[in-house]
Amino acid sequence: MDCKRIIVAIDGYSSSGKSTMARRLAAAAGYRYIDSGAMYRAVTLKAMRLGYVSADRIDADAICAMMDDTSVDFRPSADGQITLLDGNDVEREIRTMQVSALVSPVAALPCVRRSLTRMQQAFGQSKGIVMDGRDIGTTVFPNAELKVFVDAGPETRARRRFKELIDKGENTTYEAVLANVTERDHIDRTRAESPLRCADDAVRFDNSDMTLAQQDEMLMRLFDEAVKRHVD
Ligand code: C5P
Repeated sequence: MDCKRIIVAIDGYSSSGKSTMARRLAAAAGYRYIDSGAMYRAVTLKAMRLGYVSADRIDADAICAMMDDTSVDFRPSADGQITLLDGNDVEREIRTMQVSALVSPVAALPCVRRSLTRMQQAFGQSKGIVMDGRDIGTTVFPNAELKVFVDAGPETRARRRFKELIDKGENTTYEAVLANVTERDHIDRTRAESPLRCADDAVRFDNSDMTLAQQDEMLMRLFDEAVKRHVD
């Protein structure tokens, strides 16, 4: 293992732009990027298909049993990466509002978190990884050499997400997206197991008024400093 390779944990609220940041940093550093939210979305999609979760019920026992027989992986693609659920491409389906509406209650189940945390830790075994999510710096990689916590106001985040969904051809409204972002924030922050919170040793910043270039520059500087600290 290259001793200069580190683990970068990027956590934050829904649609705070952390995936974009994480993906761009990984590309610049030559690291692997892992979108842990995609893993929770893929598990939710499987539970939906099997009828274990819907708007008015969740069968926790069935979902926990399902986890023993579930794999989530990623395959590189021209424009980033594709999420594989049990070996099949689910990249498009996991980004729909139907999945967004059900993912946070599924992600609150301790058995789901334990199982996905194990898979995430395995991805980081040889370091050289940038992972984004809600609990990466607190639970998945508490010893990550660089931790960042990204924030932005709910309206800013909902606007970004709404634009993304419309660009992808989804039929939704800004109000529905704002309601979903606010609801997910609440569930993610208040769940008993690994709630969303800023790790004590994370660098916290609000990117509402930052350009992509400013974000990239700041993150790259933090990254270079962390690598240097790690090697010294
Ligand atoms: O990052 P994204 O918005 O795609 O994540 C979808 C959902 O997955 C979040 O709202 C949250 O409920 C859950 N999640 C989580 N822990 C992570 C990543 C995502 O609970 N590390």
